[in-house]
Amino acid sequence: MSPALAPLTAAPPSLAGATRVEIARALAEIGVPERELRMRAGQLWHWIYHRGAREFSTMRNIARPVLDALGERCTLARPEIVAEQVSADGTRKWLLRMPPAYPGDRGAEIEAVYIPETDRGTLCVSSQVGCTLNCTFCHTGTQAWARNLTTAEIVGQVLVARDRLGDFPDGTAPTDGLVPSGEGVRAVSNIVFMGMDEPLYNFANVREAVAILTDGDGLSLSKRRVTISTSGVVPQIERLGAECGPMLAISLHAVRDELRDELVPLNKKYPIKELLQACRGYPGASNARRITFEYVMLKGVNDSPAEARELVRLLKGVPAKINLIPFNPWPGAPYECSDWETIERFSDIVFNAGYASPVRTPRGRDILAACGQLKSETEKLRARARLAAG
Ligand code: SAH
Repeated sequence: MSPALAPLTAAPPSLAGATRVEIARALAEIGVPERELRMRAGQLWHWIYHRGAREFSTMRNIARPVLDALGERCTLARPEIVAEQVSADGTRKWLLRMPPAYPGDRGAEIEAVYIPETDRGTLCVSSQVGCTLNCTFCHTGTQAWARNLTTAEIVGQVLVARDRLGDFPDGTAPTDGLVPSGEGVRAVSNIVFMGMDEPLYNFANVREAVAILTDGDGLSLSKRRVTISTSGVVPQIERLGAECGPMLAISLHAVRDELRDELVPLNKKYPIKELLQACRGYPGASNARRITFEYVMLKGVNDSPAEARELVRLLKGVPAKINLIPFNPWPGAPYECSDWETIERFSDIVFNAGYASPVRTPRGRDILAACGQLKSETEKLRARARLAAG
């Protein structure tokens, strides 16, 4: 049973983040007759996801007794914003608290980051608390694994962001930070699953969340604007293509198995050749729907011109974009970021071979929102604050 409707949690279940089936079940539980379920669930869906309703009482076209009965059993509560930070460059980071999702669960804290540009805004969401992959350059591997997030907890991050950014009809945009505006411009126009986690290890909940985000009667994001990043869980890439079809990003980071085995240990299970084969077969991949290959620039490790040329050779036949990410150092990290000239040289080789090769500019560094920094830094700061206080 969905955690959103689990009977043993202390707080009443929230329908914000629920699937259509869960909404219909909640309606059935308050006695809405079978023949009305579809229609009523459709109405609720529209209010929750299209209008962003936060109270049942605002749902004008639904009969009062139905709303009252729903209100007695359920809420439209979102994850709680514990802290919000706004960077000098307009990037916004939220520390969110999820209530316990099932009996015995202690709840969860995660961070979501909003990266605005003038004509679009990208929300980076989490799908797990912690990560089991242990990539050597990633700080997450040094932290404890907690659990998968539920579908509702994943969707909840998007609802919170849209509430806060005034991105629902009748919403009000904040006056600080940067929020793109203009005719038809949505504050949250793009979603990336690029937290400190492996979305394809939480496949069912991620798939369900993408279905909610891209439902045309609700949040209505195009599948071309939802990107799932994976370190290369090959069988799940195939399933993702078949069952869900969002944009795909692959954390490649190395062009030889020997080195990739070290940087991304999952490579031992699914080596580069198999990974690229899965990419070639990814449904819908085309020049208009390119797969993004992320490549973190590690000084003297993976950043030589020969490796840039090998990268281009490897990606032959794959509709690809290459995203070079300056390594973001953390205390005790066994790597350094490549020099700027080295990154430029690498980028030139890739670009001259005909690939877009943007270097990802670190955003929100002043609020510790850049790649590989989420949560860990907040936790450390908190620990430090506790030490100082105690
Ligand atoms: N497990 C998935 C989702 C993580 S997305 C994946 O590997 O794609 C987060 C991205 O940030 C990944 O590309 C990851 O390799 C990268 N990353 C992690 N730590 C980093 C660091 N310290 N500096 C730069 N990029 C980092």
